[in-house]
Amino acid sequence: MTITPHLLTGTVVAKNLKNPWAIFFIGVASHFLLDAIPHLDVGTFTRPLNYQPIWVYPIVLGEAIILALVYYKVFHKEPKFKLMMFGGFSAILVDVLDNLNFWKKGVPFFTQLHSTHEWFHYNISPDHWYLGLLTTLILTGGLVWYLSKS
Ligand SMILES: [Zn+2]
Repeated sequence: MTITPHLLTGTVVAKNLKNPWAIFFIGVASHFLLDAIPHLDVGTFTRPLNYQPIWVYPIVLGEAIILALVYYKVFHKEPKFKLMMFGGFSAILVDVLDNLNFWKKGVPFFTQLHSTHEWFHYNISPDHWYLGLLTTLILTGGLVWYLSKS
């Protein structure tokens, strides 16, 4: 999944819970569950992951910057804003750590994290990218709708 649905899922978790440890662990677990859903992300077109074309970085960075600005604009007056950011960050932490690429050098923890991440990750065929886009948009839309109503 792209970072947007992960971040919004962690935000929903934090909005409904108070315990930071529960928010953290459920946020991290949600990452694996969402990645198990057939979806579209840059990895759809860039697997195997040993090779990352240069165009990946501006797309991911652009999404992160736009998301951070929109996220702040929409949620900064929420009473639980810091906890919601923490939940969102917990939900994207797996991608952040895995994309440091320490697994490529066999560094313990990062290697196991990468294996677990790959095990959960549903890799949709690039020929069926539009189906992945559909699930990603439905999930993201549902999360935006939920957050706008709560
Ligand atoms: Zn992931």
